[in-house]
Amino acid sequence: MTGVAGGIGLEQARALEERYLMRTYKRSPVDFVRGEGALLWDADGKHYLDFLTGISVCSVGHCHPDVVRAVREQSQQLMHVSNLFYTEPMARLAERLAESSLGGRVFFANSGTEANECAIKIARKHAHGRGIAAPEIVSFENDFHGRSYGALSATPGLAANEALGPMLPGFRSVPRDDPAAMRAAVGPDTAAVLVEPIQGEAGVFPIADEVLLAAREACDAAGALLIFDEIQTGIGRTGSLWAYEQTPVRPDVITSAKALGGGFPIGACITAPVAADALEPGDHGSTFAGGPVATAAALAVLGVVDDPVLLRHVRELGAYLRESLEAIDGVRETRGRGLMVGAALEEGVDAAAVGADLLGRGLVVNVPRPDTLRLLPPLVIDSDHVDQAVGLIGESLLALRG
Ligand code: PLP
Repeated sequence: MTGVAGGIGLEQARALEERYLMRTYKRSPVDFVRGEGALLWDADGKHYLDFLTGISVCSVGHCHPDVVRAVREQSQQLMHVSNLFYTEPMARLAERLAESSLGGRVFFANSGTEANECAIKIARKHAHGRGIAAPEIVSFENDFHGRSYGALSATPGLAANEALGPMLPGFRSVPRDDPAAMRAAVGPDTAAVLVEPIQGEAGVFPIADEVLLAAREACDAAGALLIFDEIQTGIGRTGSLWAYEQTPVRPDVITSAKALGGGFPIGACITAPVAADALEPGDHGSTFAGGPVATAAALAVLGVVDDPVLLRHVRELGAYLRESLEAIDGVRETRGRGLMVGAALEEGVDAAAVGADLLGRGLVVNVPRPDTLRLLPPLVIDSDHVDQAVGLIGESLLALRG
């Protein structure tokens, strides 16, 4: 494959950002111009192995031909009409998402945080239907659910930022590893328990089965809904289409986004029958959501990912990636499931420095906490890609540990 240089270049992009963009992101010093499969190219033509996929978005690889074709064909035919009308890709995607999971109904959104807004509305409306005046939602400390005010209020670490306050009332959190605390937090006013089955932004921490079982049992006893935020874990990332399939519980609602569109923005809130009719006309809506191009892209993504052979490959390659990482000097432990992997580094090793060094060596990873690298490669990589990435991580750790 040949490298492709182009774009305005890093220095000019930086200068424009400095003048015109709000200061909400700390970016790494790379200006990407092209992607194909597991590879990215920067404006100087240097190539990178991408073990981040835009934070678990391009799971079928960059510019997958099926997704590109679906977007191109749909955008030549019809891009937008609003939710005042029917369109085929939206109807077909709703069927596919509901039938592949909880069997109820789907609401489309444009992002993960919006998918969670829908789930929060469903939980509150469902609770009001049970006569609860001030419904409460329980989430885990260290969860990440998004940045709009509902999702933010369910994200304790960020909700503590008083400069953005006040947050919405009716949210509380418990430690992620304490089934008794979960049981104690759920009571007659609980509308829902909202969990990330594997906490991604926190550093890849799977929630133990006993905690998920405690949440399920407590919700059943209280009449509350169990909501799984599968925005990072869903769409095959963990080696099943949905992460809940590898747990002992079945949620009542799941939210999806990120990889669902293969790089095209789309979110979805999917219910079981118990919550399918909570929202009625006027309760919720969005101009763009469920548009023909985004839903056509998502149908193409599901055509690739919803395949038992690929999902087995994700489980097997994930196990190989973790084994290979654990064999490197400097890696203390690995966490995760499938190709959602956190590598905790030995004490004293600065993961941020390793992440920056790896970028220079041509490997893109993410550093969600000071001691952890997060790896979210495309699901379609092979063992050679794993060997290359692990080799680079080994070299980097050797260099930085002295
Ligand atoms: N929920 C989880 C588990 C996430 O990882 C994210 C994003 O990282 C979100 C929600 C928010 O999604 P978005 O950034 O698309 O709003």
